[in-house]
Amino acid sequence: MATEGPAVRRVQVAEHPRLLKLKEMFNSKFGSVPKFYVRAPGRVNIIGEHIDYCGYSVLPMAVEQDMLIAVEPVKTHVLQLANTNPLYLDFSTSANNIQIDKTKPLWHNYFLCGFKGIQEHFGLSDVTGMNCLVDGNIPPSSGLSSSSALVCCAGLVTLTVLGMNLSKVELAEICAKSEHYIGTEGGGMDQSISFLAEEGTAKLIEFSPLRATDVKLPSGAVFVIANSCVEMNKAATSHFNIRVMECRLAAKLLAKHKCLPWEEVLRLEEVQAKLGVSLEEMLLITEDALHSEPYSPEEICRCLGISLQELKTQILSPSTQDVLSFKLYQRAKHVYSEAARVLQFKKEIWGSRITAYWSRLGRLHSIDSTC
Ligand code: ADP
Ligand code: MG
Repeated sequence: MATEGPAVRRVQVAEHPRLLKLKEMFNSKFGSVPKFYVRAPGRVNIIGEHIDYCGYSVLPMAVEQDMLIAVEPVKTHVLQLANTNPLYLDFSTSANNIQIDKTKPLWHNYFLCGFKGIQEHFGLSDVTGMNCLVDGNIPPSSGLSSSSALVCCAGLVTLTVLGMNLSKVELAEICAKSEHYIGTEGGGMDQSISFLAEEGTAKLIEFSPLRATDVKLPSGAVFVIANSCVEMNKAATSHFNIRVMECRLAAKLLAKHKCLPWEEVLRLEEVQAKLGVSLEEMLLITEDALHSEPYSPEEICRCLGISLQELKTQILSPSTQDVLSFKLYQRAKHVYSEAARVLQFKKEIWGSRITAYWSRLGRLHSIDSTC
């Protein structure tokens, strides 16, 4: 599985209404026909919220909604992007001078993340141009990972145009890293499941090294994903990155409390690994080391024995420089207990009580759009 590449299929466009519509729109936009189509799905996370960027395993599955891109490589070095949704405006740039504007997360920047990630992986500065028409039906900013589906789809488009090969695992790792170009510091779950998902099964996604294991769902199980219609654009706001930073700061304070080399610690999982203790013990250590009131930057500095200047330049990211209060106790408690729930879920579902578990669970999964 680790070396398997993305699936390639021959299809009769005429037999697929969505492809046919895309082909016709492509033709009226660019005056030519697409050479190939690429698809990447969105996802729903069954269990394991906000813990992938702390190093812990998660349990998502792909949804039917996806990004579909019709592509035509061209001889010029121009990258032309269009979208079936008129809200997303046409964009064009030179393929050898990719600029991603973090301050304005316009849709084409997500495409550029995937494009740049593959370009850089192969050390290429001069990539052939292409015409692309994007058609997505994942509700945006609603927690089904439309952004990563677009980044992954663009990465795969670029790989195909270059005629290169990479495994799904390599593609997931590259796209997880390259989505950071938009400014969000996600952990890698969304890109991993977009590439590694398979029909009829959820996946336990583990990191370092990245791997995915089937967690077969009971046949006939139906998932209802309810959309609250509250959108949260992760790159246009700092909520997501603040949460990532709070987890990082909590990891550093816990490491310092336990006399570990806290300077090199970035994730809560590293503290557990270095101490060699259980998640339950990490919860007790959190109770002991952190308080439930939010921490000011000054208090964090006192705990770590560093200056405000050092905190700002060596630890805080651009989007967290001016944050005045950090929830460390709540983040660490959530991460260690949620990581334990993922393991328990895996154990239960792999055990003999699958049906009982599902009927007990019997809940709607609502889309987490408030990050
Ligand atoms: P999500 O939870 O859906 O990943 P994000 O805020 O991370 O939410 O990303 C949403 C952004 O992804 C949108 O603002 C838009 O720029 C981009 N996007 C989503 N769907 C499409 C689409 N169909 N076409 C182009 N861009 C899209
Ligand atoms: Mg996203």
